[in-house]
Amino acid sequence: MNLSRRTILALLTTAGLATFAVTPASAGQKEGEKLKLLIIDGQNNHDWKATTPVLKSFLEKTGRFDVSVATTPPQGASKEDWGSFQPEFKDFDVVLSNYNGELWPERVQESLVEYVSGGGGLAIVHAANNAFPQWEEWNRMIGLGWRGADFGERVTLNDAGEVVRTPKGEGPGAGHGPQHEFAVVIRDREHAITKGLPAEWMHAKDELYHGQRGPAQNMHILATAFSGNNCGGTGTHEPMVWWIPYGKGRVFTTVMGHADYSMKCVGFQTITARGAEWAATGKVTLPVPERFPTAEKTSVAE
Ligand code: ZN
Repeated sequence: MNLSRRTILALLTTAGLATFAVTPASAGQKEGEKLKLLIIDGQNNHDWKATTPVLKSFLEKTGRFDVSVATTPPQGASKEDWGSFQPEFKDFDVVLSNYNGELWPERVQESLVEYVSGGGGLAIVHAANNAFPQWEEWNRMIGLGWRGADFGERVTLNDAGEVVRTPKGEGPGAGHGPQHEFAVVIRDREHAITKGLPAEWMHAKDELYHGQRGPAQNMHILATAFSGNNCGGTGTHEPMVWWIPYGKGRVFTTVMGHADYSMKCVGFQTITARGAEWAATGKVTLPVPERFPTAEKTSVAE
């Protein structure tokens, strides 16, 4: 009697905890309610102290997000200091990484995997895809990262818009030429994130990533940019924006957003906010602003 009662209690507790742990905040969300978004920063070879406020500001200005920030300890911090880094992913609808630094403690890695596979949203901005080459599930979530040519496959589009997969070890690894303004080409104009955007638009000065490498499974490429040989590039169409399903969750990536001035591009802001909304809910309600850049002209947010 006692034993079976204990067993039932244990089962109930386990089931309760499991449900609690893997259900993201959006599960019980009402229409029009703000989405809870968590930015992670704290280490980056980029100026995260300048870019996190830009991200927070334009996301909040949409009226769609409540933005919180979780900052990791600095590089070289002690194990004890890392002990205080315990983001409660499950309390958020979407997690946005502006982090490129030391590997998180295993409990945080496991917590993120559980969160995204359980239906949570993850958004990756620029150098966030440089992080964690040694973390296998992270590589699966992001698809392509800033890695050497030997790390994994490369994915590009040819002039006909067809996906070309280059085996590992062949062709260039991750890199970029000097920063410049460049044209972004929308490759899926029916997807909720990109619907209503011009087929092509000029992005503000940024690094044009090329040669990204990884497992690249289930990648849905939403936008590319032509990486010109005359701009230190590869002479082909490199993925700029994509998404990947991971369990019940969605991972949105944009490799644009090197610096605060790149993030002030109305195109970057629109696609990042819509990508985050979609990662959180599977829907997009955010409109395309009138000031969206055109094929000829960049547009910088006020
Ligand atoms: Zn950069």
